[in-house]
Amino acid sequence: MNVDLHCHTNMSDGSLTPEQLVELANERALDILSITDHDTLDAYSAIKAIPPKLQLITGIEFSSQWRKQGVHIVGLNVDPLSESIIFGVAQQKKARLDRAEKIAERLSNLGFEGCLEGATLLADGQIGRPHFAQHLVNIGAVSNIKQAFKKYLGAGKVGDIKEQWAKTATVVEWIRESGGIAILAHPSKYKMTRTKLKALLTDFCSAGGEGMEVISGLQVPAVTRDLATLCNQYGLLASCGSDFHSPGMKWAALGLVSSLPDNCNPVWHRWA
Ligand code: AMP
Ligand code: MN
Ligand code: MN
Ligand code: MN
Repeated sequence: MNVDLHCHTNMSDGSLTPEQLVELANERALDILSITDHDTLDAYSAIKAIPPKLQLITGIEFSSQWRKQGVHIVGLNVDPLSESIIFGVAQQKKARLDRAEKIAERLSNLGFEGCLEGATLLADGQIGRPHFAQHLVNIGAVSNIKQAFKKYLGAGKVGDIKEQWAKTATVVEWIRESGGIAILAHPSKYKMTRTKLKALLTDFCSAGGEGMEVISGLQVPAVTRDLATLCNQYGLLASCGSDFHSPGMKWAALGLVSSLPDNCNPVWHRWA
């Protein structure tokens, strides 16, 4: 099975249109794909035809807040017409717009004017920090996206504002109420201590979370083994995804996802 359950289009911070992404998934001979844009399901209304061999699972990647930390929760197989998901998406959209204004204000305090307008022009869908990063590159404030995050937008920098997101438990509830499965995204990217990660997993499970990503993009086998162990310890379903955003990023290429370790319980057995 060739499965990719985490990727982005230009409806959030990816570069391909939903149609182009589906075409690429078909070229890569994927069996199951979920497009998981940040806080939006808009990609799904833009797709007109699904290739016959591809199973497309409706998905979303919600930003959430756990304690003082930003945590991403993927919702798989959600019903896009359910009241709770519509409510959740609307709330997150507003949060993104409010946050964008705050980011722009903080950047303006540093002397960078017109950031809200610039980032808005770059965003085809949900506005996010990558659009501000690209704007900072465009005006010559930094030489590349990575530097924009390192200096202004990354963790602990002026443009990192986390307080607006819904609580992790609330996001899990939206996903469950819409018939979906809540998955903790890329657990190794939070740079948490073991104790903290376990506390997060405990809270996530009590809230009704059912799975975690054992594989996210290219990762070393030791990390995969470790995440598989944690996944089984908490009785969770295992997911895998590239976190693809745009062609050319080798560490997160669409469909380039290693197989799950044999001891894992793959989430797609729920619907495949
Ligand atoms: P946001 O959803 O607006 O909070 O922005 C987070 C997104 O920014 C992530 O999903 C990544 O796509 C991107 N991102 C985060 N950190 C970096 C970084 N250091 N360099 C490039 N992109 C990043
Ligand atoms: Mn992203
Ligand atoms: Mn993420
Ligand atoms: Mn992602």
